[in-house]
Parts: sequence; structure tokens; C-alpha cells
Amino acid sequence: MTAAAPSAAAPTLADVLAARRRGAGLVQTTPLIGSRFFSGLAGAELLLKLDCVQTTGSFKIRGAANAVGALPPGTAGVVCCSTGNHGRAVATAAQRAGLRAVVCLSEATPLAKREGVRAAGAELRVAGDDFAGQGQEAAQAEATRLAAAEGLVEISPFDDPFVIAGQGTIALELLETRPDLATILVPLSGGGLAGGIALAAKAIKPSIRIIGASMAQGAAMAASIAAGRVVDPGETPSLADALTGPIGPGNRWSFDLCRRLLDDVALVQETEIYRALQAIYFEDGIVCEGACVTGLAALTSGAAQPTRPPGPIAAVITGRNIDTRRHAAIMRGENVSLGDPRAGGLTVPGRPYHAADRPPAR
Ligand SMILES: *Cc1c(COP(=O)(O)O)cnc(C)c1O
Repeated sequence: MTAAAPSAAAPTLADVLAARRRGAGLVQTTPLIGSRFFSGLAGAELLLKLDCVQTTGSFKIRGAANAVGALPPGTAGVVCCSTGNHGRAVATAAQRAGLRAVVCLSEATPLAKREGVRAAGAELRVAGDDFAGQGQEAAQAEATRLAAAEGLVEISPFDDPFVIAGQGTIALELLETRPDLATILVPLSGGGLAGGIALAAKAIKPSIRIIGASMAQGAAMAASIAAGRVVDPGETPSLADALTGPIGPGNRWSFDLCRRLLDDVALVQETEIYRALQAIYFEDGIVCEGACVTGLAALTSGAAQPTRPPGPIAAVITGRNIDTRRHAAIMRGENVSLGDPRAGGLTVPGRPYHAADRPPAR
């Protein structure tokens, strides 16, 4: 069983407005703050939308609260696969509704994220033992198996109209505060976030530009948009761990939305993600996880040109669930090892942050 009925239609602005009502009491309206540093780099006013201070430490509660809130009475419980943040969000929304929640994760899931799921009262299943490099695919298969075996409703992290509509509530907050925004930079994985933001923002302001940003290796949505059909580039470890995993051969909603509504997709290297994590910390005092800064890294590296047309830019800072030791190591400029070296692991070379290393303002 999946959360969306087979006849469900693609979400609209009305669904995003309904999602905001369902999320009330659980979902926070998050701050939008200016960044002098990133504005200087962009050559335009740049604002940070801080969903890293959202309930559960990521925006994923927006979609989860809406999907769980829309379940029919008598639902036995929910199950999902996740890179961590969606699982914690589903667990939190289910706990509030008094429902059982099972979360399927891969072996690659950082400790901080496993603990977040457990602390929210969910049952944890770690799939992917013998699936080196395909952990998310294994977690997905396990979630679908459990849904059938135990009569649970499966809530996709990105390919569900209720989840997409929930993530779209970010666009409502952005454009209510700053109707003059010209561009929104959005970290991109399965596309629930970018698709939801794009559909809501463009319904309100058709001229707005939405730019997705992913890591260069293993970005399934970016590769699928480029190919014009769903493709699976395989999973690669990344500092942006929340952005890894396939978008599903049976993708029904998020691929079509992203393909139609994203104006551009930028790809960034691991070293650029590393530098952007340092910059947002040392320049703006913000602790966040790697996935969040792909949009900023696209700006500093020149992979995205968000000032054409000119106008204020908002970058969505999507979560703060990073292992504190890893974050501290990056702030000290140490090398970071990702994944299992026997299965495509890699090392991101470190470098201490100095203001003098700032990329030149353009
Ligand atoms: C899930 C997630 C994303 C990407 O969202 P999609 O809807 O899968 O594109 C970005 N950042 C963080 C922190 C996430 O947890």
C-alpha cells in the first residue's frame, strides 16, 4: 500500500496550502536571513532559508506531516526508506498521530541520523549488508516488502503527492516574506523538495527561476533529466549523504515535475561542498549538513548563474543532521573519508579555512 491512491492527481498550489494547514503545530515557519558573504559572491542579495532549524533538523517534516496527516482513520502504521532525515520526520509525525512507524535505512546512514530516527520512537531496519554501493535501493525494497507483509502504508521520501505538496510550503513562506525573489537555489536528490517548491513558486510567480543543485557523482535526478528518462547512475558516497540514491524506475511524480519546472540543474564537486560547509560556518555561523550547501557551492564554483535575470536569490538550507565529529573535522580542515574503501569509498582532501581563500567576488 502506498500513501497516494492510484488515481491521485499531480499536486497543485491548493494542495500546498492544505499541507500548510495539516502541518500546523509541528512544522515551524523558518527564518530567512541575509548573508553578506554569499551576497558579495553572487553580486546580488542572497538570503538563506534556514530549514536546518526546522523540527527534526530538516525540512522533511513538512512533507511527512502532510502525508501522515492525510492518512485515513484506521491506518495500522507507516513504513519508509530514507537516507535518514525523511525517516526521522515520518517517525516524528507518526508518533504525534499515535501510529507505528518502521524506517528502513542503508548501512551508509550516518550515526546522527540513525539516532534521530530511534529517538523519535520508530523501529529501525538497516538494509543493504550485501548491497555495497546500492544501500538505498536495498532499503527501498525492504520498505516495500514490509508494507505488503505487515499492512503498513509506505511513504516515499520524494515520490508522493502529499510529500511534494508539504515540501512546497517552503515556497509559500519565501514568497510571502520576499515577493521580489528572482531565483531559488534548491538541493536536489529525489526531487520532492525541488518539485514542490517549483510547483508552488511558479503558480504564485511564473517568472521565478528554480535551480536544482546536486553532487557531481551519483545524482540520479540530474542524470535522468539529462537523459530525458529515469536512469540510475549508481550510488556513490558523498558529503551530501542526504542526496544519494535512485529515483525509482516507477517514478510517477517527482521526475515529471522536475523535468518540467526546473530551469537549471548544477553539479558540484565534493571539494566544493567541503569549502561551502566551511564558508557558511565561518562567515555566517551556521552548522548544517553537506546536502544543504550544494546550491551555495554551485554559486561559488560558477556551476550556476543565479543572477540572470538579476534579483534577490534564496538558497534553501535543508538540514543540520551532520555527525558533529565530521563537522568539527571539516572546520579544522582535515581530510574526510567517505564510504567503504573496498566498495567505491573516497577521500575528500581537507584544507583549513582562511578568509584569504575566499573565492573572488564576481
Ligand atoms: C532529502 C533531502 C534533500 C533533497 O530532497 P529531495 O526531495 O530528495 O530532492 C536535501 N537536503 C536534505 C538535508 C535532505 O534531507
